[in-house]
Amino acid sequence: MNIKKVSIFVLIYIFLNSLLIFYFQKDKNDRVKIYFKQKVDKLYSEFMATQNSYKMLSSFVYDNINQQRDIIELIYKLSKSNNKEKIRKNLFKKLNIFYQLLKKYSIYYVTFYYPDGKVFLRMHKPYKYGDYIYKENGSIFTKTFSQSTTGIIYNFPIFYNSKLIALMQTSISNTVLKMELTKLFHRDYEYTINKNFISNSSLKSGKKLFIQSDINSNFFYEENSLNKNRLNIDNQTIHEINRLIKTKIKDKLKEHRSFAISTKYGGEWYVVTFLALYSNFKHKSNIGYLISYEKDSTYEILNSNFIYNLLFGNIIIILVLSFIYYVLHINEKLRLIAVTDKLTGLLNRNKFYEIANSELERSQRYKRPLSIIMFDIDHFKKINDTFGHGIGDYVLKTLSKIIKNSIRKSDYLFRWGGEEFIILATETNTDQAKTLAEKIRDAIEKYNFDKVHKVTISLGVASYNEEIDKNSIDSLINRADEALYKAKESGRNRVEIANQ
Ligand code: GH3
Ligand code: MG
Ligand code: MG
Repeated sequence: MNIKKVSIFVLIYIFLNSLLIFYFQKDKNDRVKIYFKQKVDKLYSEFMATQNSYKMLSSFVYDNINQQRDIIELIYKLSKSNNKEKIRKNLFKKLNIFYQLLKKYSIYYVTFYYPDGKVFLRMHKPYKYGDYIYKENGSIFTKTFSQSTTGIIYNFPIFYNSKLIALMQTSISNTVLKMELTKLFHRDYEYTINKNFISNSSLKSGKKLFIQSDINSNFFYEENSLNKNRLNIDNQTIHEINRLIKTKIKDKLKEHRSFAISTKYGGEWYVVTFLALYSNFKHKSNIGYLISYEKDSTYEILNSNFIYNLLFGNIIIILVLSFIYYVLHINEKLRLIAVTDKLTGLLNRNKFYEIANSELERSQRYKRPLSIIMFDIDHFKKINDTFGHGIGDYVLKTLSKIIKNSIRKSDYLFRWGGEEFIILATETNTDQAKTLAEKIRDAIEKYNFDKVHKVTISLGVASYNEEIDKNSIDSLINRADEALYKAKESGRNRVEIANQ
């Protein structure tokens, strides 16, 4: 196989391998994308399920309060009466049974306020009232469910004679929700809040202290909730994970969308999922993220699958290419066998016609000389008869080798049949061909053929003559054959030139 063929195979291999890498890389990326999307969906479901249980609990208590006619009347009276303190105390006492129930389930914040936002009773802070409830995008008064910087808020309307007289608001903190999520789903969570929302609301009211997050300078943690209630992953590891993903997620955080990312730390793979939280689902203002951290080796499996696929694909490519290479090689060998003489390894009569015709054409076009030398071993029958066929074969082989080595690269040697041979000598005129013939004759005569000792050959030389041969190889051969016959007639072991 030559270098050209091998380079073609190498190029094909590189090309196929690039296709393979491209395909498996894309396949891996698609799988990772789907996997991360599932992570986001899962976190969303967890979040919704958990917050919904608090909503149901609040709703259950609200329904009970709503059925207490005396409580509704007290609320109404409070809004109208001048002697508010006594009514407020009375109301607090009546509502306290319900409040204790909510507290038991970590709903600590229960506020009652008028439709204009003015607070008239805080169950968790009964001495603080008369202020206005903070409005976040105006959503508090229209939405039952709302995400705030510090937690989730539920609002329930209170009617008196079909007229809206007040609202009840329960809220659970992010910390409580985080703890509940960990309890239910056995993973580690964190909240991070967008800087803009903090300066707009809670920082202003000074209720909560926030510290800048290690994920992004635009996000803050609630100080009293941070690092609490870890289950599987310790705070130090979470901090290191955050440090590792910090730059990778910088742009993603700007998109205000949910996403997941994986990273390796301490020899383990982790998936970090970010669920975008919106204060109002309609306005799509991103308050921050609920983040979940979990050990997860799926990413590593997808990665090693990619490598295995690539390896496997490569093996297949190499096998197929080797097979094609082998088939081509066999094909070439078969073609060679078809044109080669088995005994001497010389080209045969079929190949002679193929080469002779193209050389004849070339010689005619460029007006270059072309000669053939036809020769035959003298008294070969006698050699066979005396020494046996084996020795006869040996003579044929040895003679072929000697002559092959004494002609030029541009000359061809063929076994014409039996113990007859032809040399096709390109760029060679009659005189040069005669010299070559003499040289060969001399070499054979001088060679010692083992048991046989002396072997001689007779040779006939013919050069292509356009006028006589008229583009016919057979004519040229006939003339060489005649010259050979003449050489035999004239006593053998000699060279004769055909008539020109
Ligand atoms: P001449 O000098 O007139 O050429 O005499 P010759 O004996 O060589 O005459 P002829 O051409 O009639 O004989 C050729 C012999 O070569 C006949 C055949 O048995 C023998 N022969 C042909 N092919 C092979 C071969 O492959 N191996 C052997 N050992 N002998 C072969
Ligand atoms: Mg002979
Ligand atoms: Mg013969």
